[in-house]
Amino acid sequence: MQAITVEKVGKVYQSGTKALSDVSFEIPQGEVFGFLGPNGAGKTTMVRLLNGILNPTAGHASVHGLDVTKQAGEVHHLCGVLTETAAPYESLTGLENLKFFGRLHGMDEKRILSRAAGLLQAMELTEHRDKKVKAYSTGMKKRLLLARALLHEPKVLFLDEPTSGLDPEASANVTAMIGGLVKQEGVTVFLCTHQLKYAEEICTLYGFMQQGELMGFGTFEELLARQGGRTRLVLRGENLPVLAGAEYASGGGMAVPVRDDAEVSEILRNILTGGGQLYEARQERWGLEELYFSYREPKSIGLKLEGKKEEGGEVA
Ligand code: ADP
Repeated sequence: MQAITVEKVGKVYQSGTKALSDVSFEIPQGEVFGFLGPNGAGKTTMVRLLNGILNPTAGHASVHGLDVTKQAGEVHHLCGVLTETAAPYESLTGLENLKFFGRLHGMDEKRILSRAAGLLQAMELTEHRDKKVKAYSTGMKKRLLLARALLHEPKVLFLDEPTSGLDPEASANVTAMIGGLVKQEGVTVFLCTHQLKYAEEICTLYGFMQQGELMGFGTFEELLARQGGRTRLVLRGENLPVLAGAEYASGGGMAVPVRDDAEVSEILRNILTGGGQLYEARQERWGLEELYFSYREPKSIGLKLEGKKEEGGEVA
C-alpha cells in the first residue's frame, strides 16, 4: 500500500485563488519525500489537504488507504505534524509538553512516559526534560516539537520548514535527527522546505512545485535522467577543440555537458590525439539545487545556472 496517494488534486480557495491544479503523485511507505517550491507554490495547502484539514475542490487523496476527506479523523491519528509556526508551551517543561499532547491523542500515561523517554533521548533533551521550555534554545524547542509530532507513533510525519529560524549548526543537527528517527521509526516523511541543502541530505524522493503545479516528481536519479543526465565535464588546457555545447567555466577552462564515462573518455582521447594539452579534467554532477532550478525554469536548462542560486541554497 502507498503511504500517500494524490490523484488529480485541485484546490481553489473561496477567494478564487487557485492553490493546486491537477496534482498527482504516490509516495511509498518509508520514503523521505521532499516537497520543494517557493512561497505560494501550494505546499502548505497540500499538507493541510492530506491532514484532512482542508477539502480538495477536485480529485482525491488518501493516506494509508484512508480518504482524507471522508475519513479525516482517522487520517489525523495516522499523521504527525510539525508546522513552521508550531510552538511548545513555554511555561511547561519539555516532559510536561509531551504529556499534554499525549493525553490529547488519547494515549495512556504509561505509554506516554515510555515514548517520551525514548524520544527525549533521541532528541538529546533528556537532561533538559524538567526545565521550563522558555529556557530552551530555538534548536531545542524544534527538537521538542519533533518529539511531540512523533509521540503518538504516527505512520506519516509532515514537516513544514522544520529548520526555519535555526542557525546552520542547529539546522544540520535537526536534519540529522530527522534522518535518524526516520530510520528508527520507519515512518514516511513529507518534508516541505526551501532549504535544498538539508533536503538533499535526507530525502529519497522529490516533488518540485511551482504555482500549484507539480513540475517534477521522482528520485534524484529519475529527475536527473529526465533532464538528460546533466553531468558536465570541466576541462582546462591549451589548444582545446570547440566542443558541442561548451561554455566557459568559472576559473578559466570550459565545461561541456556529458552523458556518461564513455563519452568523457572519448572526448579526452580526441583532445589528446588532436594535439590538445590537458591540464585538468573533472566531472561535476548536478546537485539538488541545479536539478530543482532546471524544473522550475525548463527553458533555461543548461549550464548557465550561476545567478539563479540563492545564498545558502535556499529556494528563491
Ligand atoms: P506554500 O506553502 O507553498 O507557500 P500555500 O499553500 O500557503 O503555499 O499557498 C498557495 C496559494 O494559496 C498562495 O497563492 C496563497 O496566497 C493561497 N492561499 C493559501 N491559504 C489561503 C487561504 N486560506 N485563503 C485563500 N488563499 C490562500
